[in-house]
Amino acid sequence: MSRPVAPWHLGIVATTLVAAGPAAAQTVPLPGAVPLPASVDFRAPFTAGERVRILSGYSPTGGSSLHDGTDRTSYANDYYALDLVYADRPDSGLGRDVLAPLDGVVVKAGWASAGWANYGQRVILRHDLGDGHVYHTLYAHLSRIDVSEGARVGRGETIGALGRSCQGALSCSSFSTPHLHFAMHRDSTIGGSGTGGSYGGHAVVPEAFDGAEGLAQGDVLTSSNATGPTCGDSSCDAGEDWASCPADCAAPRVEGTEVVARVQTVLAQGADGGPRFEGDAGAPGPSTPGPRSGALVGNGCSVSGRGPGERTPTWLLVLVSVVFGARRRRRAASGGWAPARDAG
Ligand SMILES: [Zn+2]
Repeated sequence: MSRPVAPWHLGIVATTLVAAGPAAAQTVPLPGAVPLPASVDFRAPFTAGERVRILSGYSPTGGSSLHDGTDRTSYANDYYALDLVYADRPDSGLGRDVLAPLDGVVVKAGWASAGWANYGQRVILRHDLGDGHVYHTLYAHLSRIDVSEGARVGRGETIGALGRSCQGALSCSSFSTPHLHFAMHRDSTIGGSGTGGSYGGHAVVPEAFDGAEGLAQGDVLTSSNATGPTCGDSSCDAGEDWASCPADCAAPRVEGTEVVARVQTVLAQGADGGPRFEGDAGAPGPSTPGPRSGALVGNGCSVSGRGPGERTPTWLLVLVSVVFGARRRRRAASGGWAPARDAG
């Protein structure tokens, strides 16, 4: 099954067609694995404009015996992992930047140990893609790490550098080519032995991957990853708001904010003997203090003997009601609007 490819990807797809042969349809996940949410605009984790070659593709027969598992409960599910290299750079891009493909939070950054030691220096990011699931992406064998655990990163931000770290040493005997091991998991658990990893959950098919689908060993595509949010991608990224990108972000709840601010004003101004609405030009508003003493019986408790300056919730509620009623009546009489309580 294929889904529409955004217009800015068309040039990339055309390049892929030439470089990698006819593009297959989007990969259908094997049992236990899941697709990306359709709204996600996923970019390769390399610098924009760089060509990305898939050194090892999906499955243990795609170039790495470690790419295995779709929903195992006690292992990482890396069947749809990819080993990526910079196609046009010396040493497969050793030391070149690895970028976050999506906004996220760093949950692991540093050397993996015990059962995860093959990953070497690795970063794990957590992502909220808006479908109620938790997603993790993994970046392994790094030669450098630029982020700390707990930090927020934006799409296009550098998180480390491509390397061949493994087993706490420079490299493993199982591979000699520097590369980035990239994997994505849905609803996995972070932890386990040693310094921990991402395991369990479901392997995620990371397509469309910069516009390319049906990824296989030897494919080459071009990264379009870039720093900063992209307006129009249906994701209200960090740095975007309704004013700068109304296509992605919801309008603020203005009227609700106004009500809260006015109640806070009443509380603050009532402390010195009587509330005033200084914001109502030409209409000072009520300045008579609220009830100061007497007995209030309303909730089964008798409260008596309140002294000067003490306030009760009852007069506050009455006051707010009277003032808003007056404002509504004034506005209605002058042909103005009747305020909505929730414009969100
Ligand atoms: Zn790998």
